[in-house]
Amino acid sequence: MTQDSDTKLRTQITECTRMMVMAELLDYSGHVSARIPGTDRFLIPPRDASRAGLTADEILVVDVNGKVLEGKGPAPTETAIHSGVYRNRPDVLAVGHGHPPMSTLFTMVDRPMVAVRNYGFRFIGIPIHPDPTHIRTAAQADAVAKTLGQCSCCLLRGHGSVVTASSIPEVFLDSLEMEENARSAVHASTLGKLLPITSEEVELLKVSFARNTYRIAKTWEHYQEKARLAGML
Ligand SMILES: [Zn+2]
Repeated sequence: MTQDSDTKLRTQITECTRMMVMAELLDYSGHVSARIPGTDRFLIPPRDASRAGLTADEILVVDVNGKVLEGKGPAPTETAIHSGVYRNRPDVLAVGHGHPPMSTLFTMVDRPMVAVRNYGFRFIGIPIHPDPTHIRTAAQADAVAKTLGQCSCCLLRGHGSVVTASSIPEVFLDSLEMEENARSAVHASTLGKLLPITSEEVELLKVSFARNTYRIAKTWEHYQEKARLAGML
């Protein structure tokens, strides 16, 4: 990896982590990682670093078996979630694991994730992994990857989310929109019977809300600016 590419990924992980704290998608726990392109190694913050004040030089280099190769301090307890995804999904370049409160509610009821916001169609019926414990071992992580399958995200029962993508800004966008969709569903359900986005509407929405670079960049830059103004970047 070139120095530029290393610096860019470390900066993106740092900014994404702080922006996710600000957007209440991460709290004192949870982590965002990025595969070092073309390798079986990835960058991930250390276990004990504050997610609100993470710096680029604190970030560790870890292999797909979870072994720390560079950097100080232990890797997060649930590094296995990331290593398991990178081992099983060569197409994935970035992973986020958090404990978003609204999305996680959908692991506690007999009701699959529905779309109520127009952009929410990407999260309809996302898989729910049945193991509610911390994902610490390679076997547990392989089981999470199996639940994820070819989906871009899944939920962990009573626990949180796993969001995968081809870049850190995409992890941010999907984490944000999954949680906003879930929040809207919960709030709307207190007003009356939910009227989720229909399969016919999904086809129309795929045209206007397909993942594309302009939506990813626009959202990323908006939250960067918001975080700067709030003193979080
Ligand atoms: Zn967790």
